[in-house]
Amino acid sequence: MNDQARQVVVLGATGSVGSNTLEVIAGSGGKLQAVGLTAHHQLDRLVELARLHSPQWIVASDPAAAQQQDWDALPAGTELMTGEEGIRQLVSEPSVDVVLSAIVGSAGLIGTWAALQAGKTVALANKETLVMAGSLVTKLAAEHGGRIVPVDSEHSAIFQLLEGNRREDLQRIILTASGGPFRQWTWEQIEQATVEDALAHPTWEMGPKITVDSATMMNKALEIIEARWLFDIPEDQIEVVIHPQSMVHSLVEFRDGSTLAQLGPPDMKLPIQYALSYPHRWEGPAERLDLSAPLQFEFSPPDLDRFPALELGREVARMGGTAGAVLNAANESAVAEFLERRLEFTNIVLACRAVLEQHDFEPDPTLERLIELDHWARQEIKTWNCR
Ligand code: MG
Repeated sequence: MNDQARQVVVLGATGSVGSNTLEVIAGSGGKLQAVGLTAHHQLDRLVELARLHSPQWIVASDPAAAQQQDWDALPAGTELMTGEEGIRQLVSEPSVDVVLSAIVGSAGLIGTWAALQAGKTVALANKETLVMAGSLVTKLAAEHGGRIVPVDSEHSAIFQLLEGNRREDLQRIILTASGGPFRQWTWEQIEQATVEDALAHPTWEMGPKITVDSATMMNKALEIIEARWLFDIPEDQIEVVIHPQSMVHSLVEFRDGSTLAQLGPPDMKLPIQYALSYPHRWEGPAERLDLSAPLQFEFSPPDLDRFPALELGREVARMGGTAGAVLNAANESAVAEFLERRLEFTNIVLACRAVLEQHDFEPDPTLERLIELDHWARQEIKTWNCR
């Protein structure tokens, strides 16, 4: 064991970002060490990962699933904890340096919240946390000396582009979007989209929830809200541009009119490693930009008619308060309904708008109120579906 290694907790170790993170850790040459891993349902996989990475702690966050699991194969030095309390305890361990938060959806909030409360650095892959509770989470980080380093590729790009520049010179953030699998589909075609169509992402390999979000472009809507909180910038200074190659991860424009871009292959290991190595840069596993062959980049404005999620995201970023929690929960629930083939693709965004408009908006909610509204919005989506 290397005493200098950064001690990393991976919340959501069995998912797509979690797996990439463990590859980054394994390839870090001892600069990073996985000391804690968590999983919700894939507990056989969690045991396998514990045998591979010998963490000090693992957490099975669903206590019922944990009881059913056979833990005999767990390495002797690995301690098992369970439930939300297990997650809170894990991220607060004094030896932990960085918490990589990759639990999908609003379930990711608990671990991120506890880590920031303990003053840790959070490498945040879970955008839902900021969408749901951006003002509270950023305030919490400031109060306890914690820090959020983005893992989302666009936000990592912006974060990198702002390093060494003065925040007050920032004029505009330009988020790039691949456009998803339906970029060139007509509205009539999109109305007929199946689960299989929506899961066929052209450039990024990701979990099912974010892949569907990418097809509706709700992912970009959520990223507008994420950027609003992460960089403390009003919604009207955030723009979206379609860039099908997914090589330019985002751009920032400064007040003198100079625009900077960050480029790299569409590989999550790059922003993950930067979040874990920050403020340093290390040798990385990512492919290099190949300029020995012709390379063309396209940029075009998004079509707001075919992708109404974008306008919805903007409205929610402008509203703040309870709007983000309601949109986030409504979308999670609607995507789950779509994946179960109980909701049509174009109804995902329609249902989200309806639920958002129905809710009792509050400008300055508590965390408890946001969690209540999260539960409420999920139920509303289910009844909307039955009409
Ligand atoms: Mg992204």
